Amino acid sequence: MTDSGTGVGDGTRAVRAGLPDPVKHEPALPGPVFAAHYHLPGEVTGPYTYGRDENPTWNRLERAIGELEAPGQDSVETLVFASGMAAISAVLFSQLRAGDAVVLPSDGYQVLPLVRAQLEAYGIEVRTAPTGGDAQLEVVDGAKLLWLETPSNPGLDVCDIRRLAEAARARGCLVAVDNTLATPLGQRPLELGADFSVASGTKQLTGHGDILLGYVIGGDASAMAAVRRWRKLVGAIPGPMEAWLAHRSIATLQLRVDWQNASAMALAEVLRGRDEVTGLRYPGLPDDPSYKIASQQMRHYGCVVSFSLSTRARAERFLEALRLVDDATSFGGVRSTAERRGRWGGDAVEEGFIRFSVGAEDPRDLVADVLRALDESAR
Ligand SMILES: *Cc1c(COP(=O)(O)O)cnc(C)c1O
Repeated sequence: MTDSGTGVGDGTRAVRAGLPDPVKHEPALPGPVFAAHYHLPGEVTGPYTYGRDENPTWNRLERAIGELEAPGQDSVETLVFASGMAAISAVLFSQLRAGDAVVLPSDGYQVLPLVRAQLEAYGIEVRTAPTGGDAQLEVVDGAKLLWLETPSNPGLDVCDIRRLAEAARARGCLVAVDNTLATPLGQRPLELGADFSVASGTKQLTGHGDILLGYVIGGDASAMAAVRRWRKLVGAIPGPMEAWLAHRSIATLQLRVDWQNASAMALAEVLRGRDEVTGLRYPGLPDDPSYKIASQQMRHYGCVVSFSLSTRARAERFLEALRLVDDATSFGGVRSTAERRGRWGGDAVEEGFIRFSVGAEDPRDLVADVLRALDESAR
């Protein structure tokens, strides 16, 4: 897909994102810089002083993410973190003070209830609203920050970022969007009016199920300065090796997103024809409740499909019968994973609810494996 603004497509941008200008005899992506401190004689001047504050390997990764999340927007700033939760906490705890109110999704990432308890312990009022239906509008008055997660995990509901961001802005309320599921190729929250796009890079962004990472990107310099200060204070920084691996992985983001998301669509279409499958959700299915808004604000619909089987036992038999799909949590990796989400507690889902993350296997093999496992689970 090509942008009007910058003229190049996502694949072209992804393979070169964040790379320095070529230097003779140097690799395209310089290796990780391992440094707790840097040579610093005399006066203290940046950019590189101490390893908790700055690292050139992070900086290259931050440039790469910035080029994908907000192409052509040079004034935005990106900060990488040790995990998605580190990034989420950095925004919440750097922007909110005792007495402020925040709106969180009632159906979002499963750690949010823990975050809620911590925010309340600090005297911050927490309101919640479901992701679908733009019900956030009813509780946003007087709030300092509106937190959106769209598509939501694991329910795959979608809200209208542009509409909610306009309403929030009119009330002087900041908006953050958890962009984990969509990835920067699937959705660009800053272009839709959000103040922050925040994500776990642990999922499809890096896509190999081997690193934890998070990031925050925003266009407001003083808000981002507070996020940066929080990272320094808490020390929630990625290791240089993880940052370098993440950057290397982003080169194939377009390939993985195209392939995995097309396979997710194919799987969703097959599941739609199965009687034992209920509550099927995929934002790219034209008859999905999320489709109307998703098709307006998303460029790709993600690699996660969710659905229910009749009982917990049936879901467990299905998962056990799968041969090409690991029973594991998380999503977005090149190897398909699926899990019975109810085993964690916390999500408002049926006992037989399955979150299925479609990997980079041949889709025909994957669909055949799923159909066979469905048949076997009936016995
Ligand atoms: C996984 C996830 C997170 C947390 O990310 P970590 O990297 O595990 O800390 C946050 N939001 C969403 C939507 C997620 O899926």
